Amino acid sequence: MSHKPSKDYQKRKLELTLLATLLEFLGLFAFLFSGWNIHLRNILENRIGSHFLILSPFYILIIAIIHEVLFFPFAFIKGYRLEHRYHLSNQKFLVWMKDHLKSMIIGWILGLGAILCVYSLLRLYPVGWWWRAGLVLWVIYVFLVKFAPLFLFPLFFKFKPLQDEILKNKILEITKTAGVHVKGVYEFDMSRKTKSVNAAITGLGSTCRILLADNLLSHFTQEEIMAVVAHELGHHKHRHLVKGIFFNFILLLLFLFASEMAIRESADYFQFRSPADMATFPLIALVFSIGSLLFLPITNAILRSFERHSDRFALETTRNPAAFISMMEKLSNENLAEDSPHPIIEFLFHSHPSAKKRVALAQSYLGPIFTPSREHPEIRGQSL
Ligand SMILES: [Zn+2]
Repeated sequence: MSHKPSKDYQKRKLELTLLATLLEFLGLFAFLFSGWNIHLRNILENRIGSHFLILSPFYILIIAIIHEVLFFPFAFIKGYRLEHRYHLSNQKFLVWMKDHLKSMIIGWILGLGAILCVYSLLRLYPVGWWWRAGLVLWVIYVFLVKFAPLFLFPLFFKFKPLQDEILKNKILEITKTAGVHVKGVYEFDMSRKTKSVNAAITGLGSTCRILLADNLLSHFTQEEIMAVVAHELGHHKHRHLVKGIFFNFILLLLFLFASEMAIRESADYFQFRSPADMATFPLIALVFSIGSLLFLPITNAILRSFERHSDRFALETTRNPAAFISMMEKLSNENLAEDSPHPIIEFLFHSHPSAKKRVALAQSYLGPIFTPSREHPEIRGQSL
């Protein structure tokens, strides 16, 4: 098989993401500079009154509906059409649609809650609202990270404790050797939806657990699964989740402060009545979009360094680089990712090092007499 399908698949996914990002910027610019942000506020005031608790949810809801109409085609092509074209998805359209609606509603509820928090603080503290909003949103975010494994993930997958007793004992052994403690190892029915394979470590403290896809358990050897588990334990040992939470807090404060400056500097130009005017919402959204895009290379560089640390941890703990290499090659083939993306593309958009680099790292643990495996001559990409 040639490299083409994976290259095409990744290229199309990236094109769709870039196009959606561009459309989001243009949409927000148009909404703000055409004065429609002010018109929408005025229309709603005339129809339903100006009470904050009534006007703001309607204002946000209308923007959310426009957003959904504009971006549904992207979600459909990227999440359904493309996955089927490359034979990755097992989902029927209605099942996919149900999942899409579920994430949309959850997104709307969380988004609305967060925005109402921000605007309540904007009304109460027109000057020092941004750091207070940062703290409140961060607490909500930490709460979500902690409880998502219990309440959010089960809305999309069925989880059960790992059934394989032999594997379970091996994992217990490795956690002891590595001096890492997680609260549980769970398997979930990923194969019901996709042919892609994945694993993750999620939750905080009492909810911290390793999640393994059922198709990973059925397609990979025990040594390969142990390499995956050790990699996830590496994330835990190096406290990557906690570090990520703090990094996001800094970004959040930075974006909120930039929003405060943007509102203050442009209030006259855009004719905002006050910083708490709902018409400022597209401006805040624009600041967050631009900020996230600008920081994307830094965020990805940090994430890639986390992955490298975890790979090293896995290799040093399992002392089985051959299993790590065959795991990485299998994973790459199953997930149809690219083996060696263009360095600029990797630098800007990839949260994981390329499979080629990860395999090269593992090869360095094999010693000089290593010869590459002939069973998996081709690497298409990876995840985890
Ligand atoms: Zn990882």
